[in-house]
Amino acid sequence: MDEDGNEITLDARESECLFVLTGGLEAATVSACPGCRCRVLAAVALVDLLDAAPPHPRGTELIELADEAPTLHLYVVDGASDCEHPHWLDPLFEEWLDAGVAPGRHARR
Ligand SMILES: [Zn+2]
Repeated sequence: MDEDGNEITLDARESECLFVLTGGLEAATVSACPGCRCRVLAAVALVDLLDAAPPHPRGTELIELADEAPTLHLYVVDGASDCEHPHWLDPLFEEWLDAGVAPGRHARR
């Protein structure tokens, strides 16, 4: 999702596929929780990464989201994880919290 709360929801298979195709999104990650897949991505780097990776069924949507993101960052929320991110100590964790798990984020859908 981006900072405005625009989001793309991938099912378990799509996200698994995305992580495999992009090498765990490593090249676009600016900060990540060591315990799960929640992370902050650089939007520009994500576009490059998806361009270079083998085609993903949701790739076009993801590139559009990244292209239109209002800030430099995108936020990955691992909905399948119970992790509370106790070891994610980077200052960007706060930014991710604000954007990714702000109350009412589902109200907009
Ligand atoms: Zn975590």
